[in-house]
Amino acid sequence: MTCLTSAAETERTWFDAEAEAAELNRLYDQNSAAGVLHAALKRFGDRFAVVSSFGAESAALLHIVSLVNTALPVIFLDTGKLFGDTKRYRDQLIKHLGLTNVQTLRPDPQDIATSDPKGVLWTSDTDQCCFNRKVLPLKRALAGYDAWASGRKRFHGNERASLKQFDHSDGRVKVNPLAYWTGDIVQTYLDEHNLPKHPLVAEGFASIGCMPCTDPVGESEDARSGRWAGRSKSECGIHLSLTQNISKLNKQNSQIRPLRTGDTS
Ligand code: SF4
Repeated sequence: MTCLTSAAETERTWFDAEAEAAELNRLYDQNSAAGVLHAALKRFGDRFAVVSSFGAESAALLHIVSLVNTALPVIFLDTGKLFGDTKRYRDQLIKHLGLTNVQTLRPDPQDIATSDPKGVLWTSDTDQCCFNRKVLPLKRALAGYDAWASGRKRFHGNERASLKQFDHSDGRVKVNPLAYWTGDIVQTYLDEHNLPKHPLVAEGFASIGCMPCTDPVGESEDARSGRWAGRSKSECGIHLSLTQNISKLNKQNSQIRPLRTGDTS
């Protein structure tokens, strides 16, 4: 079993994430999800983490993680705006799967006190709200890692439609073990392995993020149409580079707090 301790505490050395991702795709494209996770662990060892929302489809990837290594770091972003059901589901899945290294991240209280003291920024500026509550905390948490995996899939559409199993951003390799999975494959996997479902799925929620920005969807609607419904926004920003996020915010003339040393590491 790969040693997975203290990754975030070790110093990162620069490496060419784009070249790494290209090589990993050449070697492992179309491998199974478990094969992709094994390949990432073999390549990055304790400098590899998984990021999970513990949402509607998350149990599939987390189950595969548990089969590969229950001590793999799993990062969960508690934005302060999540459904209580999501946090209870997180605890249920941790227990069910025997995960031993789930790390809950929270936004910097100083960022929130400065930019969103009343907690209603999402009503006027969802990009800035996501930046403070998701993008920055995750960028800081990933400081000690060279690669991270998430549950993005091509069938989610938009920017994800041409996803490969390995890509890169901000000098890190991004691993997408389920890139080629369809919605039917996910549901079959959850059923076949008798995995607990997020309680909101029964209420029509197909993709689950923060409470104020998540709605249930109709059967014929695509899974992510309930996220930021009625707005042009389709991604929270954690899958964009820091530069892309800042440029987007600047274009909107938003006020962002100055970046601190380490935000871009
Ligand atoms: S999803 Fe909504 S509430 Fe959550 S961080 Fe983004 S804008 Fe804020």
